Amino acid sequence: MEEKIEQNFKEILEFIGEDSSREGLAQTPKRLMESFKEIFSGYSVNPSEILGTTFNEGASDEMVVLKDVEFYSMCEHHLLPFYGKVSIGYIPDKKIVGISALVRLVEVFSKRLQIQENMTTQIAKTLMEVLNPKGVMVVVEAQHLCMMMRGVKQQKGTLITSAVRGIFKSDPRTREEFMGHIR
Ligand SMILES: [Zn+2]
Repeated sequence: MEEKIEQNFKEILEFIGEDSSREGLAQTPKRLMESFKEIFSGYSVNPSEILGTTFNEGASDEMVVLKDVEFYSMCEHHLLPFYGKVSIGYIPDKKIVGISALVRLVEVFSKRLQIQENMTTQIAKTLMEVLNPKGVMVVVEAQHLCMMMRGVKQQKGTLITSAVRGIFKSDPRTREEFMGHIR
């Protein structure tokens, strides 16, 4: 399998007009393969299991906000990077998770082929399913290389997506409180 992938990358190098046998490129197919393993390591992890360790905080129903978690992902349409930050808020119903679990959750979904809209929804959906909180809100802001390097070449545009669940949806004040925290 790995040999075949290296061969395919070599053919891609030829396709773009390169001499894949020149010194600087000799190890490139192998490096590409290794870097793909790392960039796409999110497939081998079950997101629900990351949130497996929860704490029971009986009375706590205050908002938990983690803002500006950095991420790097690859768009599924062009295989070019998009990167930015994710902010997560939720209001627990007994179950809470550690900060590192939230960071890992962002990492697992970002280290897959993605579109930003889906990544945003997947993070919110997993938190709803596993923690069963009163509500969740996820906001993602990102720069897309596929927009900056090619196509419309619009370099300043930031794409903002959000997913809103539970009380964040039904109560505008909860939503505003969250937006106030992440601004
Ligand atoms: Zn793209």
